Amino acid sequence: MKVYLAETNTHLIQAKQIHQRATVFDGHCDTILEIMNHKRSLGSRAPTGHLDILRMKEGGVDIQFFAVFIEDIYKPNRSLKRTLQLSDCFYKEIEKNQDDISLVTNYNQIKKVNRAGKIAAILSIEGGEALEGDLGVLRVLYRLGVRLLTLTWNQRNQIADGIGESRTGSGLTEFGLKVIDEMNRLGMLIDVSHLSETGFWDVVKRSKTPIVASHSNCYALCPHLRNLKDEQIKALADKGGVIGITFVPNFLTQEKRRTTVEDVVKHIDYLVEKVGVDYIGLGSDFDGTDNLPLDLESVDKIPNITIELVKRGYKEKDIRKILGGNFLRVFKEVVS
Ligand SMILES: [Zn+2]
Repeated sequence: MKVYLAETNTHLIQAKQIHQRATVFDGHCDTILEIMNHKRSLGSRAPTGHLDILRMKEGGVDIQFFAVFIEDIYKPNRSLKRTLQLSDCFYKEIEKNQDDISLVTNYNQIKKVNRAGKIAAILSIEGGEALEGDLGVLRVLYRLGVRLLTLTWNQRNQIADGIGESRTGSGLTEFGLKVIDEMNRLGMLIDVSHLSETGFWDVVKRSKTPIVASHSNCYALCPHLRNLKDEQIKALADKGGVIGITFVPNFLTQEKRRTTVEDVVKHIDYLVEKVGVDYIGLGSDFDGTDNLPLDLESVDKIPNITIELVKRGYKEKDIRKILGGNFLRVFKEVVS
């Protein structure tokens, strides 16, 4: 027992140090919508919800993608206006908290902001219906700071079918192909989470740059439509992309039980076994889900992933890749 306790303490100390040295990069949260709808603020510790600045600091998060999520009632014809309203909400929050967090649009800004001890925030859009079928809108959204576009949510839009369109499951439209080309040209991350499988393969074929799945898990461990099959995982790795492991319980296991941080790390283990350590990141989906695993209930609990990785014998350099190094590599390559 004594030996076990001593070992556990060593793990904890080691994990704490590694976590502090690491750049922690989360590929997806839906906090903007939470703030917009529930009048929460990024700047104060919320009794509800999963993410605010104080808890991000406790969790050691350095870089965060903030997604604009367009609710069904605004689709399809009011998607762009809703995108702009949510973006406005995001900008206001960043301005209010400028001592702690800054909007970044390129790699050098991330480095600069992190060196100043602040969190780097990147704007993303979850659902290409925001473009309302217009490439010019994509270019303007880029100018507004958007650096990642999740091509679809679960439904069909002008770009492709989402994963929920199981009857058709169509791939990229002609417009969708143009979106890929323009995102490649501008330097934007193409996100295939929520996209139909046919769409996924179209993107793999068309995109000249690495692609990301900002919040998806492994189908082999949890056969949910939102998760990636082995061939998809391999293709994404072959392109040099990254998969943000998500904490959403339904995507972790189909067993009817409370999930834990170990379930998250099981998906990481699986990816390591399939394609190695270079294509794995975090994609929490904080504030985008009602339930979260035990010991990962909010962003301040992220160090528990590091503890679990240390317990499983992961080396520091690999842990640092998983916590953020890989996402940062892809961001640098695609967005620059
Ligand atoms: Zn999502």
